[in-house]
Amino acid sequence: MPDERQPKRVAILGSTGSIGTSALKVARDIPDRMRVVALAAGRNRDLLARQAAEFRPQLVCIASEADAGWLRTEVPSGTRVVSGPEGLIEMASMGGVDLVLVSIVGTGGLQPALAAIGSGKDIAVASKEILVMAGEIVMREAVRKGVRVLPVDSEHNAIFQCLEGHPHGAVKRLILTASGGPFRCAAKGDLRNVTPAQALKHPTWDMGRKITIDSATLFNKGLEMIEAKWLFGMPIDRVNVVVHPQSIIHSMVEFVDGSVLAQLSHSDMCFPIQYAVTYPDRLANTLEPLDFAKVGSLSFEAPDEDKFPALRLAREAGSRCGTLPAVLNAANEVGVERFLAGAATFPAIWETVEAVMRDHRVVEGPDLAAILEADREARRRAAEILAAGA
Ligand code: NDP
Repeated sequence: MPDERQPKRVAILGSTGSIGTSALKVARDIPDRMRVVALAAGRNRDLLARQAAEFRPQLVCIASEADAGWLRTEVPSGTRVVSGPEGLIEMASMGGVDLVLVSIVGTGGLQPALAAIGSGKDIAVASKEILVMAGEIVMREAVRKGVRVLPVDSEHNAIFQCLEGHPHGAVKRLILTASGGPFRCAAKGDLRNVTPAQALKHPTWDMGRKITIDSATLFNKGLEMIEAKWLFGMPIDRVNVVVHPQSIIHSMVEFVDGSVLAQLSHSDMCFPIQYAVTYPDRLANTLEPLDFAKVGSLSFEAPDEDKFPALRLAREAGSRCGTLPAVLNAANEVGVERFLAGAATFPAIWETVEAVMRDHRVVEGPDLAAILEADREARRRAAEILAAGA
């Protein structure tokens, strides 16, 4: 039977990044079901111009107005160019878009995500930071507007798939898998000498720089615990983590009867991105299928929370809530930036996060303004602590 569904019209925020370029691969792979209608990037204007020439979107957005001026001379005649945070909001709320993929690194995707929801569009969320910061508000607004929040993070996409058709009450716990990062087998004492180049070598995934460092500290898994809490309405003590170095099982759900469902595939973000776009349908593609004989064995171990305190800190933030998850997220972003710039040690990332969390006076049930204020204050405090040599 021919597939008679209309292609989904997708706006990609962060199209020049690791997730964004994977999303464009998906669009090339399933052109009958995914049409790219808008693209936004930060600084990489050359790649954005090439993407615009290939996909001929209605709208492109770039962070600076100077780059936007250059782009106006490069893009196809039917493509309009906007810039800055206002441009992102315009893109997220424009007509003729069915799904907004939020894949801007850090917290810059939060306001556009809320704008997309506000204008009645489904969102596909890769940018976990926005759910960590403001998960309660994002999920509440999505329910209010009757739109979907589709998880793109491979772990949450896996859980989303395993949960399908099962009532909430049937779930005992969610089990996030973690590769363990490049320092899984390193001695705790050696972590102080870790360099950015070593931390940027992820054993199984090819991703942007921020998330790769987060994977090395295990803050990525900590952020994902909080993300899972909001996406699936699960208390954080029922969101567990197991280290699975092969990254073939992307996460699991244990049900009350003791059965566990898992989702498996190669570690390629095209799998979860495609499912977020075609949901609830499954579509044939050109991605490499799993060959179990080649995979050989799958192994599991408990995470070492003494060596990697990120999980403990995330559990604390995710059970205390209020503004604390936003504070954890902001302090971590500053720590990662300084580490990548060679201005902080690797353990200084979590030492700073812990210090900023301890200093913070939590605001209960915060609105967006209180969250943004906690974010700003945590960044200021983290920078101060790091400058003083955390
Ligand atoms: P990258 O660093 O590779 O890409 C980030 C993207 O954000 C780039 O397109 C960048 O543009 C864009 N960007 C940055 N600032 C702005 C801005 N002000 N306006 C518009 N665009 C901006 O990151 P990833 O793709 O790895 O990660 C993106 C998000 O997805 C993160 O939140 C990450 O945690 C999450 N994620 C990533 C996974 C992965 O496999 N990579 C897996 C699961 C989640 P430019 O490059 O042009 O400056």
